Amino acid sequence: MKDRFGRTIDYVRLSLTSRCNLRCPYCYGEEIKPEPADELRPDEIAEIVSVLAELDIQKVRLSGGEPLLRPDLEEIISAVSKTRGIRETVMTTNAQGLTQRLRALRNAGLIRLNISLDSLQTERYRNMNGGSLEEVLSSVDMALALDMLPLKINCVLLGGINDDEIEEFINMARERPLQIRFIELMPIGKLSGQDWRRDPAEILKSRELKPVKAEYPGQPAQCWSGPGFRGSIGFIRAFSDPFCRNCNRIRISSEGRIRPCLADDTEWDIRSAIGNPARLREIIMTAMEGKPERHRFSEGCIPSKFMYRIGG
Ligand code: SAM
Repeated sequence: MKDRFGRTIDYVRLSLTSRCNLRCPYCYGEEIKPEPADELRPDEIAEIVSVLAELDIQKVRLSGGEPLLRPDLEEIISAVSKTRGIRETVMTTNAQGLTQRLRALRNAGLIRLNISLDSLQTERYRNMNGGSLEEVLSSVDMALALDMLPLKINCVLLGGINDDEIEEFINMARERPLQIRFIELMPIGKLSGQDWRRDPAEILKSRELKPVKAEYPGQPAQCWSGPGFRGSIGFIRAFSDPFCRNCNRIRISSEGRIRPCLADDTEWDIRSAIGNPARLREIIMTAMEGKPERHRFSEGCIPSKFMYRIGG
């Protein structure tokens, strides 16, 4: 479907939960206690996704919160990936507990992953978010062995916290077929008011890297690679180099609220329309039409919800 600015919307990011098992320094807030009972059930998700597919959504990214906290994740992936018209079912995850489930998720229809990884140092990783680096690295090995390519690693660069690890991350892209994406901190969440942001593009200086062609129009990451690299490095700079003009996505929260723009708090409830596909379609179309032209971070318009509640 086209929005009122002529952008083709064919991608939905579906949050499966606002719960998370990690505490990244910029993300999780304790202002609410998300309850599993509020989360969309697999049958509700199936109904929403089939209406979205009728409106030409082709790609579904499962996110959260942490999608692996859903015991019914395999059932959800199976329902989404079998929906007529959905061509890609992918997931963003912190990979805690992924090794045990990856094969089953793959068999259920998951084709690719983005794995969040903010440090390559065991102790630092644990101190930053409470998780196990070993589990993330084993998950990366397993996803590569299962040929889930391109495999993308998301690293949010934070000045004074992990920006001394840039070389190690780049080495990962040199040695393995990974797309290492340096993500500029957005003014969303706990560190929003502070100057932790590091401009990842600085990394390019004095390196012989060449741009890699985008995989699809509107791809947020600008990617680079060079001689001796098996993978690539990418930069996502939503704040300093916005890609709103090519934005092709909408979001749905784990409680069934549709949010056309990450940075804008306007949402429409769609859960109440489940069981009435015509009404569901009508609300989704209204929301898509209401998608703002661009974010207004630099004018101080900051979303009130943190990323784990929006569906990152
Ligand atoms: N739990 C999953 C994970 O960790 O990948 C999925 C949800 S998480 C909110 C999705 C992504 O959002 C992560 O890569 C995280 O680093 C990113 N994120 C959260 N807050 C952010 C912020 N303020 N700026 C940039 N990225 C952010």
